[in-house]
Amino acid sequence: MSDLYIRVIPTDPQWQPTVEAAARAAEYVAELFVGPGDHVESVEPVFHERVTLIDGGEYMEDIFCSRCKASIGVDWFWDLLISRNGGRGAGEPTIDDLGVTVPCCSAALTLPELRFEGPVGFARFEVSAMNWTRQVRDLSDAELAAVGDILRHPVTQIHAHY
Ligand SMILES: [Zn+2]
Repeated sequence: MSDLYIRVIPTDPQWQPTVEAAARAAEYVAELFVGPGDHVESVEPVFHERVTLIDGGEYMEDIFCSRCKASIGVDWFWDLLISRNGGRGAGEPTIDDLGVTVPCCSAALTLPELRFEGPVGFARFEVSAMNWTRQVRDLSDAELAAVGDILRHPVTQIHAHY
């Protein structure tokens, strides 16, 4: 049994909406799965106490340096997360410090500046749509803008497959 998610997150990793706006944003996202043949198991607003990795599950295959373009590899990333979580690798990794020195060219960057394939995010809030079926895989720019209007902050989407 695998799970499919669309995770809608603020573009600023630290930013959080009000509880009311979060609930309204989740209601709006749920309405994006009501077309013919569309389905979604649940759509929930989720607050994370600390900045949390919004990962893509099996979609995450590699990481590239935004400075020298080298492939960094996901092992480096998981080792980094475990070290920043006090040695813990399980659960939802939190990352208070997004600054990193990349191993390829020793540039001082931040994790959101790296190029992840597929994309991941870093956030303290998400609208999580679980086990969905939809004619169009990606939420459109207009749909994301509407969520951003409700939350009063721009958002992006992360696809995840576990
Ligand atoms: Zn580099």
